[in-house]
Order: sequence, then C-alpha cells, then structure tokens
Amino acid sequence: MTHYDTIIIGGGPAGMMAAVASTYYGQNTLLLEKNRRLGKKLAGTGGGRCNVTNNGTLDDLLAGIPGNGRFLYSVFSQFDNHDIIRFFEENDVPLKVEDHGRVFPKSDKSKSIIDALEKKIKEQGGHIETNREVVSVKKIENVFQVKSKDSTYTSDKLIVTTGGKSYPSTGSTGFGHDVARHFKLEVTDMEAAESPLLTDFEHKTLQGISLDDVTLSYGKHVITHDLLFTHFGLSGPAALRLSSFVSGGEIAELDFLPQMSQEELVEQFDVNREKSIKNTLKIWLPERLADYLARPFPEKIKQLTPPQQEALIHQLKAFEIKITGKMSLAKSFVTKGGIDLKEINPKTLESKKVPGLHFAGEVLDINAHTGGFNITSALCSGWVAGSLHW
Ligand SMILES: Cc1cc2nc3c(=O)[nH]c(=O)nc-3n(C[C@H](O)[C@H](O)[C@H](O)COP(=O)(O)OP(=O)(O)OC[C@H]3O[C@@H](n4cnc5c(N)ncnc54)[C@H](O)[C@@H]3O)c2cc1C
Repeated sequence: MTHYDTIIIGGGPAGMMAAVASTYYGQNTLLLEKNRRLGKKLAGTGGGRCNVTNNGTLDDLLAGIPGNGRFLYSVFSQFDNHDIIRFFEENDVPLKVEDHGRVFPKSDKSKSIIDALEKKIKEQGGHIETNREVVSVKKIENVFQVKSKDSTYTSDKLIVTTGGKSYPSTGSTGFGHDVARHFKLEVTDMEAAESPLLTDFEHKTLQGISLDDVTLSYGKHVITHDLLFTHFGLSGPAALRLSSFVSGGEIAELDFLPQMSQEELVEQFDVNREKSIKNTLKIWLPERLADYLARPFPEKIKQLTPPQQEALIHQLKAFEIKITGKMSLAKSFVTKGGIDLKEINPKTLESKKVPGLHFAGEVLDINAHTGGFNITSALCSGWVAGSLHW
C-alpha cells in the first residue's frame, strides 16, 4: 500500500489545479480519476474549445456566480482569474478573450488546457492514475484510506473534487457527496441550474439559429446575451440564465433587436419602404429568421397597414415564447446545491469537522453562470484546497 501526503479524487479542473498546487508545495501527491482521461467535462465546455476563465473584475466574477459566490472571497484573494490566465500563459498556452470576457486557448482546443495541467503536475513530481474509480473512503486515526476496486492508498490529506451531478456521463455522479455524508457533513438538496428551456412554439423551424446579444425576459428578469434555437427549445447563455427564474408555463419575451428602439425601427421602415420586409430584416437578422418573421406579412414594407406595422414591430421587439419546462439535472450544465458551505473553512476549504479533508469545485454548494465562471470557481478553489496554509 502506497502512502501519499495528499490524495485528490476527481481529475476535473478543480482536481487538476489542486494537484498543481499540492505538488508546487512539495507534497507527494496522487490524483485519481475514474475516466480514461482527465477533464472530460472541461473538454466539452465552450463548444469543445474550453472556456477556461472569464477576464472580468472581482465584481464581475461575483455577479457571474449567483450561487454562493461570496463564499469565494477568500479563495479569490489567494488565486483568481488573472492567476489562471498567468498560469496558462506561463505554461505555453496562449489565451484570447472573446465576447462577455470569455477566455479560450488561442488554439481553440480544450486539449491544450488539459495537457498543460497534466504536464505541470507530472513535472512537479505528481502521480496521476486514470481509469481508477474510488469506491470508498475512510479515516483511520489520522490517515485517510482510499479504495478503488483493486487498490488501496493512504494519505494525510484528502481533497475531494468529484464535481456535481450534471452530465453524469462525464463522470460526475455525486460520489463526493457520499464521502461527505460518510463523514456526517451536511449536503444541501441538489437541483438543476443553467438548464436549457423547453418551449412550445415553432422552434424546429428555427433550430440551429444562434443570435448574439438578444434580450430574453420574463417579468423583471431581463437578460441580454447570446441565444440558440435548438430542436427542443432554447439554449445558449440567455436561456440558461433565465432558467433560474422559470419552471414552465411562463411566457417569455424575446427582443431580437435590443440595440434599436421602436422609433428607430419605424425610421428604418420608412427608409426601406420600397424594399421587401424579408430583405430589410436580413440587414439585422439571420436569413432563416428574417424569412420566418416576415412570412405572415405582405411582401413589401410599403404594403404594411399601420396595425400590421405595429404587429411586425411587436414580433421583433417582444416575440412571445411559451416556456413549457426545463431540462433535468442530468441534462443541465451545472448543479445547484452540494456540500453545505457551513461545513467548510473558506480560507483553506478544509472541513471544519474532519481535519485534513478538503473539497473544491462543483461538489461544493456553489453554482455559476456558464461563460467561464464555474471553471474559474473550480480552478481557483482547487488551487486553494491543494495549497499549504500556515
Ligand atoms: C456541456 C457543458 C458545458 C459547460 N460550459 C461551461 C462554460 O462555458 N463555462 C463554465 O464556467 N462552466 C461550464 N460548464 C460547467 C463546468 O464544466 C463545471 O462546473 C466544471 O467542470 C466543474 O469542475 P469540477 O472539477 O468541480 O468537476 P468536474 O469537471 O465534473 O470533474 C469531476 C471529475 O471527478 C471524477 N470523479 C467523480 N467520481 C469519481 C470517483 N469516485 N473516482 C474517481 N474520479 C471520480 C469525474 O470523472 C470527473 O472527471 C459546462 C458544463 C457542461 C456539462
């Protein structure tokens, strides 16, 4: 049986960064991952390009982490999004910033990010075992005993970074919550966050259309961000963010042209009155959408009666979409709920009840918007859990 200073269970962003920190501090470290490769969920973020962080201010980060982001104050004072950016650039992964502060590797390949983390862990003397599912954890005296199907390992410090319960096919099946329960730590109820929306309108006609910076609203909840029409309804950041405020049965409104007021639209209709409605809408919208919106109306703008013009403006500025539900936890991007933060020291991410036991990443009761905020939370909390604190 091999003894380590630190064992980390789960090789997502939180676990990999915990291993980087732990080995940086000279700890003999073992990272155990049940998949064949590290970072399966991370690899799928940002459409396979890996949305590794967000380059916003601390206030932007906290606003991007609506689920208990404030718990991370101390974490971010030790390691923040700018440290993530510095880490990758110093480790030969040039990054670029896209809209809404989203940061990606210049290569547009998740592999560059995962390879850099893996390389750093190994360079600093860390051990990584993949295809190694941990099935039980115990603490005997001051030593943790970690068992996989055919091996047993021991350590002085244990870091649990097994993720939430969303997309279980990526490996996050909730094992870390079982570890917490074993040690009698509270785990809050888990539910879906950042869920794609199911809708009742002709979404199939619009399937595949993506829109930049449209405004999706329901009552006082007004979100301006990118939106994607899918075969079941709506996805993309605007829909995912609205999902916290709806459950099904609501009518949401979509403003396709938030940058243009109604008056500006009327002016534009005057300027283009000899043109077809479809060609005019095409100036601002994708062709398939322009075609769909123009269909109920006469061909040319000058043929519109005043009520028809008003109806067209209503379609453009307040298109109604009936929301019928949202995707389940398993098909949502993020898990709300997890290890109760009352159990955890925010400076070290160590359990208050069980010395040596640490948690980081989505296994904790922290949830964020997509756009790099969850990954920032995972990488930064991973660094802090893996660090030594004197
Ligand atoms: C499709 C999709 C897109 C997303 N896009 C974004 C985005 O653009 N921006 C953003 O910020 N967030 C995004 N997220 C969320 C983000 O990916 C997660 O919040 C983040 O990966 C959590 O990191 P983690 O290290 O805590 O957990 P995970 O990435 O889930 O990693 C946990 C790891 O632990 C391993 N594990 C679990 N149990 C065991 C066990 N018993 N033994 C050994 N290993 C185990 C798992 O196999 C897994 O590899 C997206 C999520 C999905 C599903």
